[in-house]
Amino acid sequence: MNLSILYRGPLSSCNYACVYCPFAKHRETAAEHERDRVALERFVDWVAAQHDHQIGVFFTPWGEALIRKRYQQAIATLTQLAHVTKVAIQTNLSCRLDWVEACDKTRLGIWATYHPSQITRQRFLNKCAELDHRGVRFSVGVVGLTEHSAEIAALRAELPAQVYLWINAYKRQDDYYTADDLARFTAIDPLFPINTIRHPSEGRACRAGESVISVDGDGMMRRCHFVQTPIGNLYAPDWAAALQPRACSNATCGCHIGYVHMDHLKLYDVFGAGVLERIPSTPIWLDVAGASHVSTKG
Ligand code: SF4
Ligand code: SF4
Repeated sequence: MNLSILYRGPLSSCNYACVYCPFAKHRETAAEHERDRVALERFVDWVAAQHDHQIGVFFTPWGEALIRKRYQQAIATLTQLAHVTKVAIQTNLSCRLDWVEACDKTRLGIWATYHPSQITRQRFLNKCAELDHRGVRFSVGVVGLTEHSAEIAALRAELPAQVYLWINAYKRQDDYYTADDLARFTAIDPLFPINTIRHPSEGRACRAGESVISVDGDGMMRRCHFVQTPIGNLYAPDWAAALQPRACSNATCGCHIGYVHMDHLKLYDVFGAGVLERIPSTPIWLDVAGASHVSTKG
């Protein structure tokens, strides 16, 4: 069996303070950290024991996990397992990066999000350059706020050409983008138009619940982060019986980590082995009309 697991444990704290985020500068007690540690260890041990399956793991924490040694070590351990195909994580990339040397980097993928209100572009780019230097595959992303247009264009110009920069659409306001905004962001990320839509999903086929699942710290399995109904428990002997094709029960699916698994969008054809860390298998961002702005330095 090939299974991708989106893991989200109890951790819910972050060293950044993005104004829109409930985890901004939230600190946890020692007891809460301990609970997260125990849950993470249990999950890693479970994955390690699944020799009969090919497993990809995508850490999608509430808050920032990579500033915690336990997550760095968990990722390193998982990448060293022969039956683990990929370990990816969403991060603000504020952590030290020397820990990646303990990983099998051929199985490591980083989803790095740039938060212009929290870090300078240069410091973020320095982190990206270090990942590049250490031979780690990564994508970089931003929220497509129109007031950040110039900043996003500058980031694109200064990132190495081979690094995919994705832009998540701001969807909290209807008709937020003008045609010019759409064209500007699509010239940087050709997949941006797909992200501007909440895709009608009810009744449609989706791999979530069959070859992709979401798991919390207690092992509770859900088909994805957006359909709350549990489908089983990872730590129960019959966990695999929960995996089956199901039509989506939600009206729409508007988040990349969800809709990427919908069959009819055919995004597995675009992302291939980079589906978890959001790296297209061919550099489609170099083909768009605005590609001449892309620097080749770095
Ligand atoms: S970096 Fe992410 S988790 Fe942290 S405050 Fe900003 S949005 Fe929230
Ligand atoms: S379409 Fe989205 S909401 Fe529906 S099951 Fe798939 S990932 Fe979940």
